[in-house]
Amino acid sequence: MATPSPDGVITIDDMHLGRPQVIATYLLTGPVPALVDPGPASTLPALEAGLAAHGLGLGDIGAILLTHIHLDHAGATGSILARSPKARVYVHQVGAPHVIDPSRLLRSATQLYGDQMGTLWGEIVPVPTESLTVLEGGEMIDLGGRTIHAFDAPGHAKHHLIYLDQQSGGAFIGDNGGVRLPGLSFVRPATPPPDIDLEAWDGTLLMLDELMPSWLMLTHFGAYSDVDFHISDYRARLAHWGEQVRRGMESGMSEEAQIAALEALAAEEAAGLSPAEREALHQQTGALESSWRGLARYWRKRADAEAACPHP
Ligand SMILES: [Zn+2]
Repeated sequence: MATPSPDGVITIDDMHLGRPQVIATYLLTGPVPALVDPGPASTLPALEAGLAAHGLGLGDIGAILLTHIHLDHAGATGSILARSPKARVYVHQVGAPHVIDPSRLLRSATQLYGDQMGTLWGEIVPVPTESLTVLEGGEMIDLGGRTIHAFDAPGHAKHHLIYLDQQSGGAFIGDNGGVRLPGLSFVRPATPPPDIDLEAWDGTLLMLDELMPSWLMLTHFGAYSDVDFHISDYRARLAHWGEQVRRGMESGMSEEAQIAALEALAAEEAAGLSPAEREALHQQTGALESSWRGLARYWRKRADAEAACPHP
């Protein structure tokens, strides 16, 4: 089923590990064809096929807009640059050093994915410094007359940006709006380590609400026009997950029991979905243990910061 898309935006399904509706790359058409989050190198053949269906090749891409540098969003950037050296890459200033030298990013990802790294993400090629335009939020990007506004958007990662496209009214929010399947009125948090920040995230969602986009464009997966529902449902659910993890940590339960409790909460929330829908959501989110670890790390960091800087 074709997913709906705003004007001048084409959704390309990267078919991660051969599965549909897990990772999306967005093609912005026009005089400077641009990709938002090209996906990992492991899915480049699907991306190329998606571009070819619209008469384009990687060599035609003039700009790559990265919402953040996690490998499922940005892993293919260096490989694409090798084929399309004239493309400009837009990235948050905090993420920029790690696309120029991906070694720390790779170490961090290897801790999560171990020997699955190659299968999941493919080869990670460094991005040449001269190809980068480094953003901090507040910039306007001109794609041959099509204006994209970049916003600093911490929460899922501290180097996350949101791009608002004036032509379509689409807000490309990467992972700041959780995961969702086309056709479902159900949003699930995805909160992997290392830099989940619930307080910053809530601020980002309030900012997104004030931007009043016509569409929310999720990497996992698709375009949604019920913007008010999505933002309010997601804010509430994310806060609820955060509270559950905080209370679990305070209770002194074992890690295993706390992870099982988060799995039970997620299952309860998804009880109205079909088994196939639940399985597809699971593919988008990955193991809930990773979401628990991301939230637990956030609460530990906060506790450490409060201990180091006591209020009078
Ligand atoms: Zn992601």
